[in-house]
Amino acid sequence: MKTLVRNGRIASDGRVESADLLLADGVVAAVGHDLGPAEREIDASGCWVLPGLVDLHVHVADRIGRFELADDYESGTRVAVKNGITTLAAFVTQGPAESLGEALRRARARAAGRCHADVTWHLTPTRFEAADWAEMEELVRAGYRTFKLYTTYRGAGLFSDAVRLDELFTRLGPLGVRFLLHCEDDALLEAVDTSSIDLSRASSHAKLRPEAAEVSAVTALLDLACRRGVPLHVVHVSTVGAAERIRDARARQDVTCETGPQYLWLDETSLDRPDGHRWLCSPPLRGDRERFRALALEGAFDLFATDHCPFRKADKDDWDGRDVRTVANGLPGLGGLLRHAWRLWADEPDRAAAEVSLRLSRNPALRLGLDGRKGALRPGLDADVVVLDPNGPARAVRATESDAYDPFPGFTSTLALRHVLVHGEPVVRDGDLVDADARRGQLHPQHD
Ligand SMILES: [Zn+2]
Repeated sequence: MKTLVRNGRIASDGRVESADLLLADGVVAAVGHDLGPAEREIDASGCWVLPGLVDLHVHVADRIGRFELADDYESGTRVAVKNGITTLAAFVTQGPAESLGEALRRARARAAGRCHADVTWHLTPTRFEAADWAEMEELVRAGYRTFKLYTTYRGAGLFSDAVRLDELFTRLGPLGVRFLLHCEDDALLEAVDTSSIDLSRASSHAKLRPEAAEVSAVTALLDLACRRGVPLHVVHVSTVGAAERIRDARARQDVTCETGPQYLWLDETSLDRPDGHRWLCSPPLRGDRERFRALALEGAFDLFATDHCPFRKADKDDWDGRDVRTVANGLPGLGGLLRHAWRLWADEPDRAAAEVSLRLSRNPALRLGLDGRKGALRPGLDADVVVLDPNGPARAVRATESDAYDPFPGFTSTLALRHVLVHGEPVVRDGDLVDADARRGQLHPQHD
């Protein structure tokens, strides 16, 4: 089956041109002119045509702390694809009574046949016996190349100290693994004097997790990764200081970083509201965002990712009002990613489309090691395509369709998803699923 997308502004690899796009048998066949005829034609006049978006940081179908998340693979990939995200990377964390491989097989079984978008996984090992190391190496050989590690969350069993991180870098780095790091210096968090903090106030969350903890952990991790020569990706950067250190390190080492819409567009005043605990996430929302957004415009963030972590409303409100540390920690974001990134360049749609093609598609695909299949409108790559009209009617943007509080209530956008194609097949038309029962998403890496 051939599909011709005609008369659009094609945005890919950071460049924009007026051209047609030909898709055939699930992949991109050509970009250019006079490519027809085709069995199916899509008129993209007045629209920008982008490669399918990739969200590298998504929590779905998982239990976090006391609560099961509101989105599973079906609902998570549904809100994703309706908003242009055709690939997302979720997480597998080794539980206390299982191997990492068992945890992964469980996740794949929950996702199989249910996904509207393609899905891949980052792995978090939590045990390090000889059998665990052997299994990690086996999983890397099977194609899992991204490991997510934490410099905090000791209580949840996720914390890795510098010795452990060094061992992981040394043993897995040479096999081609890229490391995703949650950077908050646990020792600095532990050292915060809580006696002068009113823990009943949501705003105290920002005092418990100060900016210095992020900057300190990023500085240490940059140094360790540089010495071991391994690729580093810093997740959810929230501070100017950390972003500047990563920017300055790029000249000497392979380092990338992400931030999310919540750190670009929200600040700590959300936490001052009477229901401020509903904006609680880690790292916390910070102070003045002007400089942070200026860094984004300068290109300090290789990519934007949501850290989508949707707790049900009742679960988010399930705390005693006395200690903010008991609030479920995370915000939903998938449905808003494209709109909030586009806002940075909204006055210049060509520029916005070019930046989105880089920071929401090519760069995350590269970091995931999926660049042989995703991230651009280039012949041979998967025919995941977004046809975007910046001048639709203003509509409410929802981070998720599940039962979770939205971090941007009342936020509207005129960006309209005219068409979204996954593997060459139309899955979204004017923002709605073409066929709710069609589950065209594939799981990566592809093995049984
Ligand atoms: Zn996360």
